[in-house]
Amino acid sequence: MTTDWKSLIADVPDFPKPGIVFKDITPLLASGPAFQALIAELAEVVAPLRPTQIAGIESRGFIFGAALAHHLGVGLELIRKPGKLPRRTIAETYALEYGTDTVEIHADGLGAADRVVIVDDVLATGGTAAAAARLVEKAGGQLVGLAFIMELGFLGGRAKLPQDQPVFAMHTIG
Ligand code: AMP
Repeated sequence: MTTDWKSLIADVPDFPKPGIVFKDITPLLASGPAFQALIAELAEVVAPLRPTQIAGIESRGFIFGAALAHHLGVGLELIRKPGKLPRRTIAETYALEYGTDTVEIHADGLGAADRVVIVDDVLATGGTAAAAARLVEKAGGQLVGLAFIMELGFLGGRAKLPQDQPVFAMHTIG
């Protein structure tokens, strides 16, 4: 079985709508050695940031964020779609091509001593991760970096992220 996790990301054209090439991570997740190799690589770049919490973005950010948090022995904070978190939340809304979207975090989930690294699967236009970054700061945590499995470089999302933060992409496409 391969540990070459990049070869296990499948391109699915025209999903969920025409013109989008969806990056399907399910073959990677289905390979124990590949998933393990990816998390080890991710941990190597994130550990020097000395996080106390990983903030995973719903929903594929939960998968990688949880594995990373477990690997590092730190906490996992969930950044979710609206109406999913049961206690008091803080929200951030961001613009999409058509309309807006919102992400939420528990209002009491982070403390001033928390060093937080945001994790998601894909950095595309950057709107989601930029909103997540604002949310971490609004919630009172210290953002210390952002990490992605893949960056779609041609979309320029990195420019929307806080410029004073380290941004890691384990695999850059375009
Ligand atoms: P964006 O806000 O444009 O950076 O989009 C990031 C979010 O959308 C991430 O949570 C990704 O999971 C998802 N996403 C965007 N583009 C793709 C793509 N081509 N394949 C898979 N997921 C994507």
